[in-house]
Amino acid sequence: MAINLLDAQRLCWKTFRKINNKLDSVRGKSWTPFVMVTDLLEEAGEVAAVVKGLEGFKPPEKPKTKEMLATELSDLLYMTFVLAEHYGINLEETFLQTVNDYMLRFVR
Ligand SMILES: [Mg+2]
Repeated sequence: MAINLLDAQRLCWKTFRKINNKLDSVRGKSWTPFVMVTDLLEEAGEVAAVVKGLEGFKPPEKPKTKEMLATELSDLLYMTFVLAEHYGINLEETFLQTVNDYMLRFVR
């Protein structure tokens, strides 16, 4: 299934809202942008832990795999899209501009 970044962003937001609409009543409070950011940082930490394991800088009690890295990167991307959508940011447009900026800055 091919999907563009904007569709992915909207899909993440839709699932995020659906999940949290259900869980908010159980928790008695809703997710705020602050909680979204802490979750995003938590996922970034999980990416770091897997990379440390893959590179041999972590005790091998549970060997890390590329599949684990793929999962953690996906978790990080999911929360990035959710946060972008919360603020009405079209991350596809911004991302393409960022790639273009890198090209202009480092490749001439
Ligand atoms: Mg994770």
